[in-house]
Amino acid sequence: MSRKARAQLPIGGLGVRYGRSVRNRIGRILVESRKKYACTSCGNLAVERSSVGVWQCRHCGNTFTGGAYAPTTKTGDVARRSARPT
Ligand SMILES: [Zn+2]
Repeated sequence: MSRKARAQLPIGGLGVRYGRSVRNRIGRILVESRKKYACTSCGNLAVERSSVGVWQCRHCGNTFTGGAYAPTTKTGDVARRSARPT
């Protein structure tokens, strides 16, 4: 009765397929994508992913595009910096 419990990651129905490292990676990404994030408009921790790359604040309704699994990405930051004249 001392079997080490496996970390519960929300790997939707993949079962034993695709290998452990791939499943763990997907699980971590899913955890990130389902977290609530701070809204850039009202500051509340209410931003949720509504679709791939689309994020919406449940508090003020602010909808914006971002990364597929996180509201901001490193690549997006670089793009924003080069798009806006300083
Ligand atoms: Zn908001």
